[in-house]
Amino acid sequence: MPLSVFDLFTVGIGPSSSHTVGPMRAGSSFINLLGESLGSVAGIKVDVFGSLAATGAGHGTFDAILLGLEGCRPDLVEANELTARRTRMSETGTIILGDSTGAGVELAFTEDDMVKRPLTVLPRHTNALTITALDSAGETLAEETYYSVGGGFVTSETEFLEKERAAEAEAAGGADSEFAVSESVVDAELESSSGELPYPFHSGAELLQRCAETGMSITEIMHANELSMRSEEEIRHGLLHIYSVMEECASASLDRSGYLPGGLKVRRRAHDWYLKLKAEDPDRDPGYYLEWVNLIAMAVNEENASGGRVVTAPTNGAAGIIPAVLHYALNYVTSVAEGGESAKHRAIIDFLLTSAAVGVLYKERASISGAEVGCQGEVGSASSMAAGGLAAVMGGTPEQVENAAEIAMEHNLGLTCDPISGLVQVPCIERNAIAAGKAINAARMALWGDGQHRVSLDEVIETMRQTGADMSSKYKETALGGLAVNVVEC
Ligand code: SF4
Repeated sequence: MPLSVFDLFTVGIGPSSSHTVGPMRAGSSFINLLGESLGSVAGIKVDVFGSLAATGAGHGTFDAILLGLEGCRPDLVEANELTARRTRMSETGTIILGDSTGAGVELAFTEDDMVKRPLTVLPRHTNALTITALDSAGETLAEETYYSVGGGFVTSETEFLEKERAAEAEAAGGADSEFAVSESVVDAELESSSGELPYPFHSGAELLQRCAETGMSITEIMHANELSMRSEEEIRHGLLHIYSVMEECASASLDRSGYLPGGLKVRRRAHDWYLKLKAEDPDRDPGYYLEWVNLIAMAVNEENASGGRVVTAPTNGAAGIIPAVLHYALNYVTSVAEGGESAKHRAIIDFLLTSAAVGVLYKERASISGAEVGCQGEVGSASSMAAGGLAAVMGGTPEQVENAAEIAMEHNLGLTCDPISGLVQVPCIERNAIAAGKAINAARMALWGDGQHRVSLDEVIETMRQTGADMSSKYKETALGGLAVNVVEC
C-alpha cells in the first residue's frame, strides 16, 4: 500500500512509537489473530528481543504489550482508561486477554513473566517480540513474531514471509505452482494499490520530476495522491484533527509541573518557561520566536515522556519538532499570521502534506527507527520533514522545499541514540528543540537560494541510511553507549 500522510502522523501515546505504540499494536493484533480461539486460551508467553528488551523498562514497552493484549489500541485508548487498566493489572497480577472484544479471558500474567532477551537480535529487526497462546493442555493455539519497525509501524513474521514468497514467485515467472498463482494475486493487488496513485514517487528526484511535468507543487502532488485514498473532506478534517491533538498535547503539558516519571529526576521545564515567556513577551515580539519554538518542542516531548497523548510525527521521540515548527509557521510567517483563520487552516494542511511527502522518502529509502539508524532517523527525519513543510508554507518552489529538507538532514547526520536509562528524556527533549531550530534555519536558508544546490535530498537520505548501517549497535536505542553510560544516574 502507498504511504499516506495519515501513516506518517498518527495519534498515539508516549513515550516511544517503536517501543510503546508498536508493541501495543502488536498485542492488539495478536488478539485479532486469535479470533474465535480466544476463549480456549489458558496461558500466554511473551518473548521480547533486542532493543525492545534492552530499553523496554524505560519506554513502557512491557506495559504497552500487556495493554495491547487486553485489546487497547494506541490511537483510540483514553488516558484514564490506561490508568485504570494499569492499576487493575498491578493489583491483581492478571490481564484480561482481549478484554476490548467483550469476551475477555483472565490470565495470571505480568511483565515479570515476559522473557527478555536484550542480547538476542532477530535477523529481520532489533525490535522484535514473539507472542504465543497456549490451550489448557499446553499446546500452542497461535504464535506470531512482530517487528516494531519505527514510527509505530508493525510488521509480522507472516507478512514478511508472504512478501518474500510473492517476490520469489514473481522472480520465478510465477505460473507453475499453486502457490505462485495465489501469490500473483497478492502481487497484482499490491501493484494496483500503488498504481492507484496519480503521481507515485519513490525518490526526491522523481518527486521534483512530477512537479516539473505537471507544474504542481510538492503539496499539490501529495494532496492529489491522498485524494485517491480518501475524500477532500476526510483529508481536511483529518489533518486539522492531527493539528488539534498536537496543540492539545502542548497545552496540556504547559499546565503540568513536577518531575517526569522513570526515576531520572528530570524536572518538567515547559510550565515555568511558559509563565516566564508570557510575562516577558505578551505581544509575541518576533525577537522571541526561538523561545516559543523551544517551548512547544519541549512541552510536547515532556508530555510524551510522561506517557501522554501525542502525535507520532513521524516517531514519538521526535514528536515535538513538527508542532514547534508549525507553531513558527502559524505565528511568525507574516502571510499566515495575519491571514486569519482560513490562512492558518491552509498553512496547517500544506505544512503536514509537504512534511509527509518528505517523510515518505525517509520511510521508503532509509528508516525512521532509532533502533535501526540512530537518532538521525528519528529527530533528523522529523527536522527534515519540518524544514520542507515550512519552506512550502513560506512559498518555496519544489526545489527550495527539497533543498530545505536536505539541509536539515545534512546537519543531523550521524546523530546517535543514547537515552539515559532508556528513558525518552535526556537527550531527547532538548534535542527536539534544537532540531526544530535547525529546521527553521534550513527553510530560511533554502528560501534565500534559488533551489539549486550541491547535495540532493536523495544523496543525503542514502548517506543517513549508510551511516546508520555502519553505526555501532551501542548507539541505536540500546542505552549501552554515549550519554547513557557516561552520565551518573542518581
Ligand atoms: S535519542 Fe533520539 S532516537 Fe533515541 S530515544 Fe531519544 S529521540 Fe528517540
